Amino acid sequence: MTPMEIELDLRDAVRSIPDYPKAGIIFRDITTLLGNARAFRRAVDELVQPWAGMKIDKVAGIEARGFILGGAVAHQVSAGFVPIRKKGKLPHKRVSMTYALEYGEDEIEVHADALVAGERVVLVDDLIATGGTAEAAIKLLRQLGAEVLAACFVIDLPELGGADRLRKLGVPVRTLISFEGH
Ligand code: AMP
Repeated sequence: MTPMEIELDLRDAVRSIPDYPKAGIIFRDITTLLGNARAFRRAVDELVQPWAGMKIDKVAGIEARGFILGGAVAHQVSAGFVPIRKKGKLPHKRVSMTYALEYGEDEIEVHADALVAGERVVLVDDLIATGGTAEAAIKLLRQLGAEVLAACFVIDLPELGGADRLRKLGVPVRTLISFEGH
């Protein structure tokens, strides 16, 4: 399938909710895609398609929607799964990374023993906007010595520049659907 055919196929499975969680934001809700067996399978298959023949040791997913997609992708490529969580959720020794939000900052964490240096990792989340969250996740994974093969998202908001931001870090980016605006 061409990128255009994949996009046409998946676009209608995403629900768009204007002014959520606040005025001016269009929330791209993937629960409708997850609930559609055919669309869910296609999204999981297509997310890592360019790397499918390569050795992938781990798939890292960003809380919370990245867990659903990343878990399915990990199973599909016979890799382990690494949860990247919001601060304060992981019980064992962890490393953390702070990143800037529009107002203030946030922090994500990963277990320090979730990866062995040199492991080949693919990062997965539902959507990339500014790329701030994914950039912090890549830095965390690299801090543990991971080789980040790619970052994969179902949805891109290209006007916010997140995918380009990750490419500048030297990480190939794959996205399946683009939406205009924020
Ligand atoms: P960012 O760090 O700006 O790339 O934001 C990415 C994170 O915020 C992802 O985990 C998304 O799930 C969430 N997010 C940002 N904007 C939206 C949006 N318009 N609709 C749904 N989720 C969003």
